[in-house]
Amino acid sequence: MQFDIVTLFPEMIESYCSFSILKRAVEAGVISVNTVNPRDFSLDKHKKVDDTPYGGGAGMVLMPQPYVDAYESLADAPNSLTVMLSPQGQPLNEDIIRKLAGFDRIIMLCGHYEGFDERIRTIIKPYEISLGDFVLTGGELPALCVMDAVSRKIEGTLGKIESAHEDSFSNGLLEYPHYTKPREYRGLSVPEALLNGNHRETEEYRRTESLKRTKARRPDLL
Ligand code: SAM
Repeated sequence: MQFDIVTLFPEMIESYCSFSILKRAVEAGVISVNTVNPRDFSLDKHKKVDDTPYGGGAGMVLMPQPYVDAYESLADAPNSLTVMLSPQGQPLNEDIIRKLAGFDRIIMLCGHYEGFDERIRTIIKPYEISLGDFVLTGGELPALCVMDAVSRKIEGTLGKIESAHEDSFSNGLLEYPHYTKPREYRGLSVPEALLNGNHRETEEYRRTESLKRTKARRPDLL
């Protein structure tokens, strides 16, 4: 899976990808991550990428030329999707992540300041994704969230892809509780069903706990 991220702050993306599971996925060639900075495409002599809004108001708006040129510098590729990170997009969920994982390449456009000049949307026609009903300072964190969640769906990113199959939402439920060593901590014991080596009992316990937890916390999922 190839991720191309159009961002004014490529270091934010590069930094996140240099740790832990995503770092290993990049090194193993399971995913590749490329950043493009609209500032490098600005035709302005001061490399300006934003300007004041027509009609007045606070904040700066991202100018169309540097963004569209940065986007168009990316070579066409088959089975590719362009995503704009925006609080006005579709709220992100497991279904969307699954659909995105079916593409070979995802291009992501990260906004900043007051956001994009509307003509960027009109020209590029991206699929817009929101992280939720709140406003962040930039699209880099949402882009990283999308990249991280999509990468987990790709064979080779996680040690065992089965662990993703049991995660919350993958089967429509919240996942069961986990325990590790020690067997006892501050008087709290690991449930017997996880200790006796009986596979069937473990499965039953996990299924029951998963349902109980979903009913208590997210009845809307049932
Ligand atoms: N003025 C815009 C509005 O009210 O819709 C918000 C602009 S926001 C301060 C700057 C950038 O951060 C956006 O262009 C977008 O890329 C990103 N962003 C902020 N909140 C987001 C969210 N909830 N989901 C996805 N991206 C978000």
